[in-house]
Amino acid sequence: MSISTELSSPHNHTNCIATALNTATQLCFERGVQLTAIRQQVLELIWENHHAVKAYDLLERIKPLQSAAKPATIYRALDFLIAQGFIHRVESLNAFIGCCNLKTAHEQLLLICKQCNDVEERPANAVMQSLAQEFQNAGFTVHHQAIEIQGICATCSQLNKDEEIA
Ligand SMILES: [Zn+2]
Ligand SMILES: [Zn+2]
Repeated sequence: MSISTELSSPHNHTNCIATALNTATQLCFERGVQLTAIRQQVLELIWENHHAVKAYDLLERIKPLQSAAKPATIYRALDFLIAQGFIHRVESLNAFIGCCNLKTAHEQLLLICKQCNDVEERPANAVMQSLAQEFQNAGFTVHHQAIEIQGICATCSQLNKDEEIA
């Protein structure tokens, strides 16, 4: 993690990682599925910060830990983590982020900052409920839905303001 990432982060991110990993470990135990070493390592790498991570970058960073790791290894681990609801795919970036709400099934709204690449997850159940009527009108059966919005995050907006004043 770069220093600038740490500075721009408004919270103690060590807590985020620890909470996510503990919850994931507990949920795997409850569900009787295995959080294998590679799955855990991929989850940890994704949780390293709130930026979306690409599969290719994960492979590069996993290799020193698991020299036999191949793209398929990473994709299988990612599929598992998505299926368990531990991470989300950011479609518009073709990348992945850690989920902030591991315990409950939910719809998410992803706010993608074009300046710092942070992706913030917000609950989207209300938004999706509003859309449900439109899907029904269209006779459309939804298999997967996520709304991704590109813009500038609160931290970067504040930084930009400060720079204007200085
Ligand atoms: Zn989520
Ligand atoms: Zn930002």
